[in-house]
Amino acid sequence: MINFEAIRKKIKDSITPFCPICRKRYLSHKHCNLCNKNIIIKINYFEAIKRNHFEHNIYELSGLDRLNSPFVCGKCFSERNYTRCCVTGKPFYSLGNSAYIWNCSDKRKLMSPYHIYSKQFNNLSSEGLDIVNNAYSKYVEELHNFIGGTKGEYIKGYSIDRIIRRIEVNGTDCKNPGEVEDILKKYCVQMGGNGFIKFFWDKKIEFIENTYIAGYGKKGNPYYKTERRTEAYFVGHAESVVFSSNITKKTRDC
Ligand SMILES: [Zn+2]
Ligand SMILES: [Zn+2]
Repeated sequence: MINFEAIRKKIKDSITPFCPICRKRYLSHKHCNLCNKNIIIKINYFEAIKRNHFEHNIYELSGLDRLNSPFVCGKCFSERNYTRCCVTGKPFYSLGNSAYIWNCSDKRKLMSPYHIYSKQFNNLSSEGLDIVNNAYSKYVEELHNFIGGTKGEYIKGYSIDRIIRRIEVNGTDCKNPGEVEDILKKYCVQMGGNGFIKFFWDKKIEFIENTYIAGYGKKGNPYYKTERRTEAYFVGHAESVVFSSNITKKTRDC
């Protein structure tokens, strides 16, 4: 009696080679040369990754040129694809992108809106992340070294090296002129200043009208009441400047 099942298996085995990675006989297929795992089903990303590495002048460095008939899976492509750091300008592995860490950090928010590193980055290497973290430490230090703000045009003992620009505090958040000053101080340091002149603040009155259901009549109809009140808030502006100490200058001149 002919064992058809055994013959079928023999034929199948002869056309389905044994794959040492899958550890079984399997229809002809390719594994990714980089992770040595994922099977290339549709797209071989080798050309795409090669283009990317050429673009960043690291093709030889990355060792891809030494691969024999290379196959690269989509996952490896997205992980090993190089990108340029927005801060250092140098290429780095996309996998090590630290942009999300910085974009979500409180430090970045505290440096907003004027510090050059307060914006959200698309690509940030770990080296770039170190730079922006150090910039934050420097920002905190400069807040401590702030010389001061004045309604006048100068502060005694200091000369103005540079007027940076006019800075403004609008919105309804400040409940007193001191809060306006605090925000102007932060803005000033964010843009590289250490003081401000021509400080001006103004008190604004906001009229608030709030209509609400005060109760229900006998037939169940609601009746309304309107609450009217006023709330004060403060706005202001100044010119941010870079002060230098007159005393230091005199010593230098001698
Ligand atoms: Zn396999
Ligand atoms: Zn792979």
